[in-house]
Amino acid sequence: MVSVLWRDSWLKPLSVHDIETKLCKSCKKILKDKDFVTSCEFCDIGVMHDNCANDHILKKHKVEVNKKIELHKDKPLHEFQ
Ligand SMILES: [Zn+2]
Ligand SMILES: [Zn+2]
Repeated sequence: MVSVLWRDSWLKPLSVHDIETKLCKSCKKILKDKDFVTSCEFCDIGVMHDNCANDHILKKHKVEVNKKIELHKDKPLHEFQ
């Protein structure tokens, strides 16, 4: 069975001042205007590019992600948590 990982679809504009970093914590590149960023729910690495976060989570948190997928397996689709 294919599992996809849903991210909330709303965007929240933040300035680099708000997030207290000018760099992506994963690839260490300087954040550019209108880069998509997110944080990791499994550790407190900080703000990363959306793409970097995908890699980060799949590489560093494989176990947690699989656990999550297992947890959601037998639940009806409309049940959010
Ligand atoms: Zn990055
Ligand atoms: Zn993490």
